[in-house]
Amino acid sequence: MSFLAAALDRVKPSATIAVTDKARVLKAAGRNVIGLGAGEPDFDTPDNIKQAAIKAIQDGKTKYTAVDGIPELKEAIIGKFQRENGLAYKPNQVIVGVGGKQVLYNALMATINPGDQVIIPAPYWVSYPEMVALAGGEPVPVVCTAAHGFKLQPEALEKAITPKTKWLILCSPSNPTGAAYTKAELKALTEVLVKHPHVWIMTDDMYEHLVYDDFVFTTPAQVEPSLYDRTLTVNGVSKAYCMTGWRIGYAGGPAQLIKAMATIQSQSTSNPCSIAQWAAVEALNGPQSFIPANNKVFKERRDLVVSMLNQANGIECPRPEGAFYVYPSCAGTIGKTAPSGKVIDNDEAFVTELLETEGVAVVQGSAFGLGPAFRISYATKTSDLEDACKRIQRFCGNLR
Ligand code: PLP
Repeated sequence: MSFLAAALDRVKPSATIAVTDKARVLKAAGRNVIGLGAGEPDFDTPDNIKQAAIKAIQDGKTKYTAVDGIPELKEAIIGKFQRENGLAYKPNQVIVGVGGKQVLYNALMATINPGDQVIIPAPYWVSYPEMVALAGGEPVPVVCTAAHGFKLQPEALEKAITPKTKWLILCSPSNPTGAAYTKAELKALTEVLVKHPHVWIMTDDMYEHLVYDDFVFTTPAQVEPSLYDRTLTVNGVSKAYCMTGWRIGYAGGPAQLIKAMATIQSQSTSNPCSIAQWAAVEALNGPQSFIPANNKVFKERRDLVVSMLNQANGIECPRPEGAFYVYPSCAGTIGKTAPSGKVIDNDEAFVTELLETEGVAVVQGSAFGLGPAFRISYATKTSDLEDACKRIQRFCGNLR
């Protein structure tokens, strides 16, 4: 019998971290590798946020805090939800965690009983099904094709709901596709949910600010206020504020659920880092003007990558609404042979051969629940992106 817990048999390690690690090993061995696997902005944390953290250290804000977050950060979060999403929360309806990841994890741990089902539109962020499985639940992926903009259709949602459904997890703009739901698209989904009062909505709004071409972001509890009492609205400072390493995420939702999440947090990590919390207060309350400036760069990169990938043989790349990912199909390359003699028989073979021959690290779509495709993160220097896309064009051109 293994010493390890049986729960581990249900969980896969992260494919995105695996690719990043593989690229790091090749780089250390002296190879010229461009990593397009990691999901974090290449921009530095804005200086006013760093200064707030330095001040917090100097002011001695270095002790344990309330498990669910300092009152000042909760107030900043309440202000953000009201200002940007039209959502009113009280302090006991808000929790701060060690990144959005811990908030999502705690919410699942606090609610899932064995056999509970969680509907997860695919392609999905790799952690959702694994977290559900770890909590003892059953992930129910629902494939959303490129033909539907990688978005869950109301009929597909209706069909996936069973008496055992506990949650629907929505992520818009999406990691890994960049797809974002318009208000009308969200409304069509919330109309289905209104008919099924036992289903709760966990909305992961982590990429809220990263939308392009005048796209207007909305979130389920805003679109359908009658769902407010069964919606957990998750967000964080990692992506828009370039604070991935600071580890601050948060959520607003029903007080009873938030309290249960805080109980789990109190017996695991306790409070998120006190200094990072003060930095997040500044992020949410301070100047926001760097966000559109960064978005201008992201949009240019998206357009560059989409255009260059669509010129590669066998690749089709949709232009997504937001986040910093594109999710091209590589269906046109499957069955072809690389100059090394390797046959590209699926998307994992595609990304492995691409990394080995051209030194470009991307993540296979099958890891996100829909292939043959791959995910590119364009949160990387523009010159590197251009170089990487040229290498992908050459790689695809050399397949026979
Ligand atoms: N949700 C999505 C869709 C993400 O892509 C990520 C990070 O990659 C997270 C949540 C977690 O973010 P955090 O860094 O705040 O834990």
